[in-house]
Amino acid sequence: MNLDAMWMPFSANESFKANPRIITAAQGMYFTDNTGRQILDASAGLWCVNAGHGNERIINAVTEQAKKLDYAPFFNMSHDIGFKAAERLVEMAPKGFDKVFFTNSGSESADTSLKIALAYHAARGETGRIKFIGREKGYHGVNFGGTSVGGIGFNRKAFNHLLPFVDHLRHTLDIERNGFTKGLPAYGAEWADELENRIFTLHDPKTIAAVIIEPMAGSAGVILPPQGYLQRIRDICTKHGILLIFDEVITGFGRTGGDWATNTMGVTPDILNCAKGITNGVVPMGAVLVGNGIYNTVVDAASEKTIEFAHGYTYSAHPLACAAMIATLDVYRDEGLFERAAQLSPVFEQAAHSLQGTPFVKDIRNIGLVAGVELETSSAGLGKRAGLVQQKCWEAGVLMRLTGETLAFSPPLIVNEAEIERIFSTLGQAITEVANQEAATV
Ligand code: PLP
Repeated sequence: MNLDAMWMPFSANESFKANPRIITAAQGMYFTDNTGRQILDASAGLWCVNAGHGNERIINAVTEQAKKLDYAPFFNMSHDIGFKAAERLVEMAPKGFDKVFFTNSGSESADTSLKIALAYHAARGETGRIKFIGREKGYHGVNFGGTSVGGIGFNRKAFNHLLPFVDHLRHTLDIERNGFTKGLPAYGAEWADELENRIFTLHDPKTIAAVIIEPMAGSAGVILPPQGYLQRIRDICTKHGILLIFDEVITGFGRTGGDWATNTMGVTPDILNCAKGITNGVVPMGAVLVGNGIYNTVVDAASEKTIEFAHGYTYSAHPLACAAMIATLDVYRDEGLFERAAQLSPVFEQAAHSLQGTPFVKDIRNIGLVAGVELETSSAGLGKRAGLVQQKCWEAGVLMRLTGETLAFSPPLIVNEAEIERIFSTLGQAITEVANQEAATV
C-alpha cells in the first residue's frame, strides 16, 4: 500500500508511515488490523463508538436511508428525517433544551455555539459582548473559534494570531492536592472564582459573550472539575448575563455514567455542544442545543422572512447522519447502555485505580467509563515513556488514547468485566516492561 498521498490529521506523518498501524475491520469491542490481529478498542475509536463497532441496526438504518434519500439541502428546504432527528435529540436532551442546530463535527459545534452566543447578544442589543472565555488545557476542536478558545498550547502554537478578545481561565488539574481521586476531586471549587476576579480586573462583564467549558476535559488527559466548581462558574455567568456553553462532545451519550455530564454533574449550561457518540461514529455529525429563550431571541429579532441566523453547513442534518443518529439513540435506549455504563463504572474505577503503586504512575482520574492514567515524564521528553507503553499495549492487542503523558481509556459502553480487567492488566504489564527496560539501560 502506498501511504504517500495522505497528509494525516494530528499525526506524526513520517514516523507513522515508517511503522503504520492499519485497521481493516471492526466488530463489537474489536478492531482487526492488516495482519489479522484482533485489537481490543479501549478508546471507542476517538471517544465516539459508544455502542460498539458494526452495530447492525445503525448500519441498516444508514443503508436504507441512502436508498431512499441520499441527500437534500436543508437551507429553506427540508426533509422529514431531519425534523425527526431533531425531535428525537430534544427528547433525550437535558431539560430546557428545545432546539437543535445540526453540524458535522465537534469542531463545527464549537464554532456554531460561539456564533449563536454572539447572535443572541446582538439580538438583545448587547453588541458589546464580543469576548469569549475558555480554559487552559481546554479542547474545542480545530476550527478557528474552537482553536482560539481552546487552551492546549501545542494546538495553538503554529497559528499565532487566532481570534482576538479571548481569555483563558486556569485548568482544574492539581495532582498534588487531588491525586488519585475517584470521580470529582474535593479540592478546587474556588478556582471558579478566577472568572469573577478576571471580570473585575480585566474585563467589563458586559463585554463577555460566553464562557466555554468541557465538563470533563478529555483531550488534555481526563481532567475533572472539582466538586462545586461548575456550579460556581454557572452562578457567576448568570450573575453577569454571560452565556455558559458546555462542550459535551466527549461527555455526551453515556460516557460519564449517565446520559449527559450536564445531568451527572447537576449543572445546566445555556448552550450544549455534542458530536461523536451522537451517531456512534458511523456518519459524521454534531449538534448544538439551546432552549427556546435563545432561539426565540435570535429569531424574533430578525425582520420577517429573512434568514435569522446566517450560519449553516451544506451537510447540516444530512439524511444519512440523521438516520444514523436516530438508530444510535434507539440502540442506546433499547440496550440500556447508559445504565450499563453506570453499573460498570465502579468495576472500571476499581480496575483503573488498581494501578496505583505501579512504577511511574503519577495520577489516576476517572468517572463513568472514562479514565486517565498519567505517568511521570522521563528524561527522554514529554509523552515518550507513555508512547512506549501505548506501543506495548498495541502489540499486546489493546488500543487506548495517548495525550501528553496520560493514557486515556473510554471503551464502548458494551465493554464487559473481563475486557475491563484485560485493559488495565495489559497496561500494568506494559508499564512494568518499560520500567524494567529503563532499569536495564541505566
Ligand atoms: N470538543 C471536544 C470536547 C472534543 O473532545 C473534540 C474532539 O475530540 C472536539 C470538540 C472536536 O470534535 P471533532 O474532532 O469531531 O471536530
